[in-house]
Amino acid sequence: MLRCIFCQKKRGRGEGKNKENIIEDVHDDKDEGSPEPVVEKKNVCYEIRHSEVMGRYLVASRDIRAGEVIFEELAIAVGPCTGCGLICLGCYRELDEASLAKCRGCKWPMCSNSCPGSGKYTGHSTYECDTLKDIPPDYSNLEDLKDSYQALMPLRCLLLKAADPAKWTALSAMEAHNELRKARGDIWPMNEKNVVQRMKKWGLQYDDQEIHTVCGILEVNAFEVGGSGANARALYDRAYLLAHDCTPTTTHTDSERVPGRPLTIRASVPHKAGDLISLCYAYTLQGTLKRREHIKHSKFFE
Ligand SMILES: [Zn+2]
Ligand SMILES: [Zn+2]
Repeated sequence: MLRCIFCQKKRGRGEGKNKENIIEDVHDDKDEGSPEPVVEKKNVCYEIRHSEVMGRYLVASRDIRAGEVIFEELAIAVGPCTGCGLICLGCYRELDEASLAKCRGCKWPMCSNSCPGSGKYTGHSTYECDTLKDIPPDYSNLEDLKDSYQALMPLRCLLLKAADPAKWTALSAMEAHNELRKARGDIWPMNEKNVVQRMKKWGLQYDDQEIHTVCGILEVNAFEVGGSGANARALYDRAYLLAHDCTPTTTHTDSERVPGRPLTIRASVPHKAGDLISLCYAYTLQGTLKRREHIKHSKFFE
């Protein structure tokens, strides 16, 4: 159990999340690629600021009412969480080990051939399927297969480099805090074993440092999305700029069935123009690393 170094609140996994469950519109759009953003640029109520001490962060550019949508944006990448069970690569639902369905292309676990995440970049994309065709899952060792899921989200990110360069560029702009993560001594060797060595075993030709960086980008910036037995993690191009606060000024929701898995950031309290817009990140490590990012010159840090 870690404490937020600002408010000293203890936070465990899954605690203090400002995430709501929502009823969503269901679309059956199976197109690959990104649809257009849902919220247009009109009436933008925030701006990105930069300071030596804080780095980049968002503030209200005008007064914002409690409950007002600050922005909505589509995911850059969505994938399995670290430590998930045996889940469908398309929709992240847990699967029954006794009666597993398999993707027709790559034979990796899927809920069915009509999984809503099949062929979508927010689920099991065609380019991921093509890559995994050369990496057959070993169903005789389910524990190892589950372990191997830890490398799938980093792989999805790395595949964007060729499959969707614009998303790769957006992802690459995010902070990985390699030095800080290395200095902690726990995360780095875990990623080395579960992700870097796994990718080598799979015969994938990615640079070690690049894999570690992608792991870091996920650890610092990913949002936990979904719920009710279908959790995933996702990266968003603007939301990651929000400062971490255990008592945040916003809530966030994601719409699982909407193409591009949009994340909606909504004010939970009224903001005055110039007020910092913050959210509470789901993972304990993020609070620590984001704090370091935002106030790295402050006396709060050793
Ligand atoms: Zn599925
Ligand atoms: Zn497949």
